Amino acid sequence: MSEIRTAMVGTPCQILAATKINKYEKQTGGSPIDVKIGLFCMENFSYSYLERYLKQQDIELYEVREFRIDKGKFIANLIDGRVFKIPIAETEPFTRKNCHICTDYTSDTSDISVGSVGSPNGYSTVIVRSKKGRQIIEDCIDKGYIAIDEITSEGLNLLERIANQKISKNTKNYKKREAIARPVLSKRKVTEEEFVRESCLCQFENLQNDVISVGSCVLCGACEYVCPIDSIQINHRKPVSKKECEPDCHACYFACPRTFVSEEIYPSDIDEKPLGNYLDIYCVKADSIIGQDGGVVSAILVYLLENDVVDAVSIVGEDKDAPWRPQSKLTSSVQDVITAAGTKYSTTPIGFKALNK
Ligand SMILES: Cc1cc2nc3c(=O)[nH]c(=O)nc-3n(C[C@H](O)[C@H](O)[C@H](O)COP(=O)(O)OP(=O)(O)OC[C@H]3O[C@@H](n4cnc5c(N)ncnc54)[C@H](O)[C@@H]3O)c2cc1C
Ligand code: SF4
Ligand code: SF4
Ligand code: SF4
Repeated sequence: MSEIRTAMVGTPCQILAATKINKYEKQTGGSPIDVKIGLFCMENFSYSYLERYLKQQDIELYEVREFRIDKGKFIANLIDGRVFKIPIAETEPFTRKNCHICTDYTSDTSDISVGSVGSPNGYSTVIVRSKKGRQIIEDCIDKGYIAIDEITSEGLNLLERIANQKISKNTKNYKKREAIARPVLSKRKVTEEEFVRESCLCQFENLQNDVISVGSCVLCGACEYVCPIDSIQINHRKPVSKKECEPDCHACYFACPRTFVSEEIYPSDIDEKPLGNYLDIYCVKADSIIGQDGGVVSAILVYLLENDVVDAVSIVGEDKDAPWRPQSKLTSSVQDVITAAGTKYSTTPIGFKALNK
């Protein structure tokens, strides 16, 4: 694997995959991901379902300039200036079904988590979780990349309430799935020893049975990234394997965020802590960047590159030929980071796909 020190931005499931890849370096080969910036995430969307849904509203995907989520509404801004808006509660037809069993709202395994809920317009809510994350945030403040304010008690209560809503709704969902023998392994409580013992018995066929065919795959691309013989490809929007597995390899099973997750990564009381374990929480803005919310993620990435903390960062930009389709990229260019600011609501395998390039 590459030695380039990298910062990765991703949804909680992608950040969990990065955490597993690095923790089980011996089995997965590790990754160059040195800083993990997690985004808050309630759900993600399937482009094929979204395309079908929009067609029913007489909108083609190529007419869409950007999707946004704002004040409880899912919004498509069209190239010709029209705006299509529906309440989030009505996005069910194109929500990814695997998101219904996910209880991590604020990216509990990141170094720094960022989202909008809890902060006023123009600010991002930042949760600092690790010593490394705290050092980065303090240095960003000292060097003027970001400015922080205290989060209000109303903001914190709202954030906790929304995170709790995700936990309680999706706990019901995964329990229903388990009851009809569709395993949700990531929610079963296992010790570190149990995790390693079980995963050492598993290869792609088990990943197929335990995750992919039961509709749990989040399309993160971690399995594709760690496979030492490049056997896995994400075809037709699900991972497939093209070759016989190496006899002693279990890398994909160790890396996948939807196989078991040991208590060392998600402690058993994690779902009782709506925001996970953290050190600090702030409202933050970055005046120099026009981002989705406070522009904070991009400002941190710019700081990391300009101050030689990492060599490259993973970003999600737009496909030149299809502006509505997000495209992952690994870059060392500050200009690329600034251009990629803003959220793309997508299930494209990101982060890891960029690392392969
Ligand atoms: C699928 C999804 C669901 C989300 N749901 C919520 C939510 O429920 N509540 C909430 O408060 N916040 C949510 N967010 C986070 C929110 O939209 C903002 O990304 C966050 O507040 C950071 O804003 P910013 O202005 O600081 O970031 P910016 O400075 O605008 O930077 C955003 C960064 O995110 C990267 N990026 C864009 N799209 C993706 C993607 N799909 N995957 C990985 N990286 C990406 C860009 O490359 C850029 O580096 C969600 C984000 C995603 C991707
Ligand atoms: S599984 Fe879905 S809801 Fe959970 S973090 Fe991933 S994209 Fe977000
Ligand atoms: S060789 Fe097989 S078990 Fe190993 S990562 Fe590739 S697909 Fe998975
Ligand atoms: S099967 Fe592969 S792409 Fe799907 S969640 Fe697991 S690691 Fe990610």
